[in-house]
Amino acid sequence: MITALPHQSVELDAVIFDYNGVIGLQPTVPMWSELAELAGWHADQLELFQNVFWSAREPYDSGDFDDADFWTTVLGHRPDPELLTQLRAVDTALWTRTDDRVVALLHHARRADLPMVLLSNAPHPVGDALDASDWRTLMTDALYSARLGMNKPHPDTYRNALAATGVHDPSRVLFVDDRADNCQAAASLGLRTLHYTGSPTDIAAHLRVTTIAA
Ligand SMILES: [Mg+2]
Repeated sequence: MITALPHQSVELDAVIFDYNGVIGLQPTVPMWSELAELAGWHADQLELFQNVFWSAREPYDSGDFDDADFWTTVLGHRPDPELLTQLRAVDTALWTRTDDRVVALLHHARRADLPMVLLSNAPHPVGDALDASDWRTLMTDALYSARLGMNKPHPDTYRNALAATGVHDPSRVLFVDDRADNCQAAASLGLRTLHYTGSPTDIAAHLRVTTIAA
């Protein structure tokens, strides 16, 4: 059976952006290798290093692990203060490069007075670094998981971000994230979602006027 779906144009009242994989670029292999070697892993063990890194990242992102807890887990021993400082700096540098095309879109949305809120799973050092970025002033607010004490896709992270937009109706707010599970969780709360796959034109289409199937 063919069902004709009525379409309507709905303007956005606000946007909630994920950071990494949307505004932020993924780290390159050389960047990962530098971090792995600093952590004492051999160059040919990069995949294993990344597995250990990610297995300990969730409690670091949520603020349950501090820097020393996280790196003690990854290294298998507690780093001395100097090494810990280096690890924190190189790790943070992995997550602070941005996609110029997306940042240009943020400027466009800002000129249109569209409220924008950042909602990122990020440990404290990354959140602090992002807050110091030039583009951060374009955002109405920025919520980081370590400060919230919980990670996406916990429903309360989206509720906090929606509150930060100042918009009450979630169906008039777009959530943009490169992870499908994060988008699904946002959609279950009534937010409009864009599962971002790396094409800034997809964001641009939504920032003007969005056509949705009702
Ligand atoms: Mg992401």
